[in-house]
Amino acid sequence: QRDFNQKIDYVFKVVLIGDSAVGKSQLLARFTRNEFNIDSKATIGVEFQTKTLVIDHKTVKAQIWDTAGQERLGLSSSMYAGDGGSPRYRAVTSAYYRGAVGAMLVYDTTKRQSFDHVARWLEELRGHADKNIVVMLVGNKSDLGSLRAVPIEDAKEFAQRETLFFMETSALEATNVESAFVTVLTEIYRIIS
Ligand code: GDP
Ligand code: MG
Repeated sequence: QRDFNQKIDYVFKVVLIGDSAVGKSQLLARFTRNEFNIDSKATIGVEFQTKTLVIDHKTVKAQIWDTAGQERLGLSSSMYAGDGGSPRYRAVTSAYYRGAVGAMLVYDTTKRQSFDHVARWLEELRGHADKNIVVMLVGNKSDLGSLRAVPIEDAKEFAQRETLFFMETSALEATNVESAFVTVLTEIYRIIS
């Protein structure tokens, strides 16, 4: 039974970043609502979802922000030509990262390019977010084993070098999704408590 008057001890802002179509919105839907939408539309505008959980007898509200189709704006200007250096770009980007204590940096295990861009996402994250932010590298779509384009060892090595957590997930099959988010939230809790 849910107690809607429960006291919230902590609110943790976590941002989802990574190339378009890697599965960020589906990971969020899976974690917060246990849903997967077969034909999801790209969401417009920045939005977040929340999920409340208990960590170490404390009530933690995770506020998880989704880039909502703004990935091109959210990338370092070195990556795409366009309005990367404009005031609007900078305002959207800093609002997105402001106050974030965790990040899920997602790539698609079947799209090499999405993994090759991870370093640039990390660079942008480190340029905008708090230096103690907890980061999980997430290789999504692990259900598509026969289409794998990123060896798990490459990702593990990168994560180790950059001191990131790492997991492969499937939003479709609900593999490791809960675990990836809970690991990040628990680590945030450990750091701040
Ligand atoms: P976003 O642009 O990063 O938010 O990506 P979406 O969440 O919109 O997902 C992009 C596409 O990948 C959609 O067609 C999803 O159905 C599909 N997708 C997302 N997660 C998975 C997954 O774990 N497995 C498979 N097979 N497809 C996925
Ligand atoms: Mg999306």
